[in-house]
Amino acid sequence: MTTPSGPVLLDRLKTKYPDARYELDWATPLDLLVATMLAAQCTDERVNRVTKDLFRTYRTAGDYASADLATLEEAVKPTGFYRQKAKAVQEACRALVARFGGRVPETMDEMVTLPGVARKTANVVLNTAFNLPSGVIVDTHVARVSRRMGLSAAEKPEQIEADLMRLVPEDRWTFFGPAMVLHGRQTCTARAPACSGCLIEDQCPKRLDGVAPAPPGAAAKSRAAPAIEANAPVTKVSSPTKARPRSLEPGGSSMYTLPASWRQVLADEIEKPYFQELARFVASEREAGQVFPPDDEVFSALELTPYEDVRVLVLGQDPYHDDDQAHGLCFSVRPGVKPPPSLVNIYKELESDVGVKPPKNGSLIPWAKQGVLLLNAVLTVRAHTANSHKDRGWETFTDAVIKKVNEKKQPVVFLLWGAYAQKKARLIDDKRHTVIKGVHPSPLSARNGFFGSKPFSTINRALEASGSKPIDWRLPER
Ligand code: SF4
Repeated sequence: MTTPSGPVLLDRLKTKYPDARYELDWATPLDLLVATMLAAQCTDERVNRVTKDLFRTYRTAGDYASADLATLEEAVKPTGFYRQKAKAVQEACRALVARFGGRVPETMDEMVTLPGVARKTANVVLNTAFNLPSGVIVDTHVARVSRRMGLSAAEKPEQIEADLMRLVPEDRWTFFGPAMVLHGRQTCTARAPACSGCLIEDQCPKRLDGVAPAPPGAAAKSRAAPAIEANAPVTKVSSPTKARPRSLEPGGSSMYTLPASWRQVLADEIEKPYFQELARFVASEREAGQVFPPDDEVFSALELTPYEDVRVLVLGQDPYHDDDQAHGLCFSVRPGVKPPPSLVNIYKELESDVGVKPPKNGSLIPWAKQGVLLLNAVLTVRAHTANSHKDRGWETFTDAVIKKVNEKKQPVVFLLWGAYAQKKARLIDDKRHTVIKGVHPSPLSARNGFFGSKPFSTINRALEASGSKPIDWRLPER
């Protein structure tokens, strides 16, 4: 099989994605430059929410250049990596003021001299704001699809872009990039390319590098923008004169928005390179299939138990991976969902230890609200694949959470069930805090010492000894 010809590919992309352009809201080239810089690893929807107010406050490059950096950071915080982004925006705007009279330049050569602006961002601005075919935008989707179609064998975006610029006539570059992004999101997805029924299936060599295409008939789901975009500010349709209402993401925190109280102590953590890499991994996983818990519940444990309220920390390992179970708290399932086997054993011990009748409900939210931080070591999982997000960076992040809890002046009780959790004991000062180690409640081990271990009364005794209120372990029946 050869590779698709440029005219045929363009023709078919045009038929399927006739209006492919960008979905960031903007009114001036400066707005678009700023929005594009903020869109790295963030949804266009979230960026548009942030820029609605941002663009009212900062109208010129001079406004950004002279802004108080902390204020600017706060304004862009919901887009994630806010320190780097605020700094990059400010430095780019200072360069605009110093070298271009405050105006966004209209050539690629000048654009890429701006701090933090590479070809991809420059192409977005030049293509869209100035309608200049400066090149083809190459993000992770375009890179992947181009390689699969045999349009480029290169790894570096600049080389892929050069190959695509040779393939496609210059006057089609501004359409081609966004259309390829949509094709990558909707059909040629990272993990399950829907080759059967793909617009270019008859001409594509399908260089899938070990990825199996989805079975015939199982067309890839067309999704709204993923929770965190894989390195792309590019999406569908927008123009300065045609802004349209859009549905906003559900409330709650996402991977980039820590709950307020934890933001104080962990903000630096999500700015670190490992977390950025982790976020990209989780985004690609969500793009390819189902990941539990949903994005806005990844930090539920931190949301329900603010830092200052933590009195007990229970450490689990991996989120439940079956449908509708995981909601961001270890051992707990969503309200109304039947308790899984480990939780059934916890309930048995709860009754034997403190006389609480086992409820049919598997939600431990009432414990979390009393200061019991129900933390898993890994906070996401691919549906039906246990431990699939292990060793991707979550352990580093949750170790940081444990260390911060360890730093609390008030004594905390740490409950470590099983060998995995007990490895974390090294992070805890057991002279100041109480560390309870015990057998894991899993059906595989519960009979080897979990039953009869009386963890709940032990926790309450430790809390009372340090002058803290005991936990009311009772749970609603349903
Ligand atoms: S979905 Fe399959 S046929 Fe279509 S572009 Fe991707 S690899 Fe080629």
